[in-house]
Amino acid sequence: GKRINGAVNSALSNTQDDYATAVDAMLKGIVTALLEADVNIALVSRLRNNIKGKLLESKGKSMNNAQTKKLIQKTVFDELCNLVDCDNAEPFKPKKKKSSVVMFVGLQGSGKTTSCTKLAVYYAKRGFKVGLVCADTFRAGAFDQLKQNAIKARIPFYGSYTETDPAKVAEEGVAKFKKEKFEVIIVDTSGRHRQETELFREMVEISKVVKPSQTIMVLDASIGQAAEQQSKAFKESSDFGAIILTKMDGHAKGGGAISAVAATKTPIIFIGTGEHIHDFESFSPKSFVSKLLGIGDIESLFEQIQTVSNKEDTQAMMENIQQGKFTLSDFKKQMQTIMKMGPLSNIAQMIPGMGNMMNQVGEEETSKSMKKMVYVLDSMTKQELDSDGRIFIDEPSRLVRVARGSGCTVFDVEMILMQQQMMARMAQGAAASKQGGARGMPGM
Ligand code: GDP
Ligand code: MG
Repeated sequence: GKRINGAVNSALSNTQDDYATAVDAMLKGIVTALLEADVNIALVSRLRNNIKGKLLESKGKSMNNAQTKKLIQKTVFDELCNLVDCDNAEPFKPKKKKSSVVMFVGLQGSGKTTSCTKLAVYYAKRGFKVGLVCADTFRAGAFDQLKQNAIKARIPFYGSYTETDPAKVAEEGVAKFKKEKFEVIIVDTSGRHRQETELFREMVEISKVVKPSQTIMVLDASIGQAAEQQSKAFKESSDFGAIILTKMDGHAKGGGAISAVAATKTPIIFIGTGEHIHDFESFSPKSFVSKLLGIGDIESLFEQIQTVSNKEDTQAMMENIQQGKFTLSDFKKQMQTIMKMGPLSNIAQMIPGMGNMMNQVGEEETSKSMKKMVYVLDSMTKQELDSDGRIFIDEPSRLVRVARGSGCTVFDVEMILMQQQMMARMAQGAAASKQGGARGMPGM
C-alpha cells in the first residue's frame, strides 16, 4: 500500500507536463508491488493494460492529479476484487436428514487436516450432525492428528491404523457415518510434498467411492507463483468447487491465490487465520484485496460506515483516526453504526476479534454481544468516552462502576476496552503510514 501510494505520489508530483510518463511510472510501482505480493505475472500484465486503457479513456476529461491518482487506485482495487470475486462463493449447503460428503484435497502441509476440523465445527455450529473421516494412510501419524483435532472439537471421527488403502478407509468411514444418519461427512485425504501422479490417482479413486457433494482444495497463502499450475493439476484430478486459503495470519499476502481462482474459476470460501479451530473466517474479496495492497481493513470498514452513518459523527471520527486517535466515544459511534448496517457477518469480520467471535458463537450471539457493548459504553461518563481508555487502568474502580451500571461483568468491560485498544493501535498504524508524503488511498 505504502509502496503503491509512494509511487503514485512521486510520479504525480513532477509530471504535470508529461501525462504518459507519469502514468507509466505509477503503473510500474503498482506492478512491482503486486509481483512482490506473488500475484501472477500474466495477471499483473493484464491488469496493467486494463488500467492504462481506463486512463487513456478518461484522459480527455482533463483530470487533475488527485483525480488521476484516485482513478488508478480505484481501478487497481476493483480489478483485483473482480479477480477473486466469483459467483457461488458460498460454502456448500447441506440438507437436513440427508448425508452429504465434503472431500478435501491439497498438498501436504497446506492445512487440510486443520481446515477439515474447522469446517466440521462450522457445520456443527449450524446444527448439522458432522463426522470426520481420515483417508490419509500415507503419512504416519495422520490419523492421530485428525483424532486429536476431532476430540478437541467434539466431532465424531473415523480412521484406521492398519488399512493402507486410502479409498477403502474413505469408503468405510463414509458408509459408517451414512448408516448413522450423519448429515455432513468430511473426508480428509493425504498430500505429498509436491504434485505427483500417484497423489492425483489417489484423489480420483477416493472421489469415485465417496462421491462428494463438494470437493475443497486447501491452499497455503504462501504458495506464490506455483499456485496456478498446482490448482490446475488438482482441478483436473478432483474437480474441486471451492478453495480454502490457509495461513493468512502469516507474512504471505496470498497473491498466489488470485492465480488459483483465475486459473480454475473457483471461489475461495474461507480463510484460515491461525492454528486454532476458531481461526476461520468467511472470505471477503474486499478485505483480501485491502490486505494484499496493504490497506488496513480499518479503512474499508470506515468507508462502509461513511455510507450509512451520520456525516458529522463520521467526520469527527475520521479526523481522530487521521491523527492516530480512536477514543471510546469513536468506538461507541462505530458500534451503533455497525448495528444499523447488517448483514452483521460481513462487517464483523473487519473488526479485530469480532470475526472470530462470530465464528464461535454465531450471528445471533454476536448481535447480543454488540448490544452489550453499547450498554457498557452507555454507562460511561463523557470524560471516559472521550478518553483513550487508559483512565480505566489508572482508576480501576471505574470498571466496577461501569459494569454495575450496564448490568455486565467487569470482564465484559475489560473485553470492550481491549477491542477499543486494538482499533486505536490500527488507527495509529494508519496515521503513521500516511506520513512521508503518502496520504493513503482516498475513499478506501
Ligand atoms: P495437511 O498436511 O494439509 O493436513 O496440513 P495440516 O492441517 O496438518 O497443517 C500443517 C500445519 O499448518 C500445522 O502445523 C497446522 O497447525 C498449520 N496450519 C494450518 N492452518 C493454519 C492457519 O490458517 N494458520 C497457521 N498459522 N497455521 C496453520
Ligand atoms: Mg493432514
